[in-house]
Amino acid sequence: MDTTPPILTDSFQRKHTYLRISLTEKCNLRCTYCMPAAGIPLTPRAHLMSADEVYKLAKLFVHHGVTKIRLTGGEPLVRKDFETIVKKLATLKVEIAITTNGILLNKHLPLLLELGITNITISIDSLSTEKNQLITRRDYFDAVWNNVKKMQTLVDEVKLNVVLMKGVNDNEICDFIELTRFENLKIRFIEFMPFDGNQWNTEKLVKHAEIINMLHAHFGAKNVLRSTDAPNDTSRNFKIQGFKGNFAIISSVTNPFCDTCNRIRLTADGKLKNCLFSSSESELLNDFRNGLDITPKIKLAMLSKKRTRGGMDTIEKLEDPELHSKNRSMIAIGG
Ligand code: SAM
Ligand code: SF4
Repeated sequence: MDTTPPILTDSFQRKHTYLRISLTEKCNLRCTYCMPAAGIPLTPRAHLMSADEVYKLAKLFVHHGVTKIRLTGGEPLVRKDFETIVKKLATLKVEIAITTNGILLNKHLPLLLELGITNITISIDSLSTEKNQLITRRDYFDAVWNNVKKMQTLVDEVKLNVVLMKGVNDNEICDFIELTRFENLKIRFIEFMPFDGNQWNTEKLVKHAEIINMLHAHFGAKNVLRSTDAPNDTSRNFKIQGFKGNFAIISSVTNPFCDTCNRIRLTADGKLKNCLFSSSESELLNDFRNGLDITPKIKLAMLSKKRTRGGMDTIEKLEDPELHSKNRSMIAIGG
């Protein structure tokens, strides 16, 4: 009997079954919290994974126990060969999910539905056109909102990601939740996280506890119901009594969920990140191109995974720009 530990298990016995693949560093938006105003230097195309390399690397991870793959970026749908990639990935025995800003969703929905890919999360941070323009530095609110509406006619539950920033969109928390009164929407409020160049500070953070206090004041504490979380859920789930939809809070800053983490990331340039917050990366693509066995490198990367937030285990460490600026911008990691 083979007693070798699986290569995707880390030294804290966390099994990593969820791979997030960034398909591109490019995006048709310029969200303030995700990328610096001046943009990021783009990796030359030759150093990015081709469609075939995405497929072959994904296949290797699936072979080693990955059961779910989320395609992200940058904006995954801006990649010209996006449809080739999903078609190839759909041949693997794996659940496929996508996180998108939603702008181009209508173009790809027929194929996604044909392939049975309905786990699609759309990011939208404000219900106001003007504020969206301010946050994304682009004017695409109507396109995104139309695609949210379209998705609602096609799937049972539509998930919306909302990154909360104090003084920017925290006054819309109750408006977002109001949307769930009659509609089967899931609103996922995400605490603003620090990455290189996104001007993060704790003052801009809307904490999990603040969100709950606001909701207690608005809807009444007894009406804010805590729901059960799925194993490995990064979000804490809630709903308002009597509402059709529900909401969740992803509190990676004030209340991290590292103990049950099952996630790893592959960047568009083929590097493995064992944690979203970790600045260390393992180069896989070059070795793969050179025909080397990359499993020892993957194993090593997993064994070096820190227990909490890439070693930034206290909020003080996370606040330190010396530490969090060593990491890439979110757009180049793949959120
Ligand atoms: N372009 C796609 C989108 O916006 O959904 C996928 C990539 S984006 C990096 C993935 C998710 O990360 C989005 O929901 C986005 O809002 C979130 N995100 C980006 N920067 C963030 C930050 N600094 N803190 C928290 N969430 C962030
Ligand atoms: Fe683009 Fe998504 Fe980042 Fe916004 S959050 S800039 S849509 S990658």
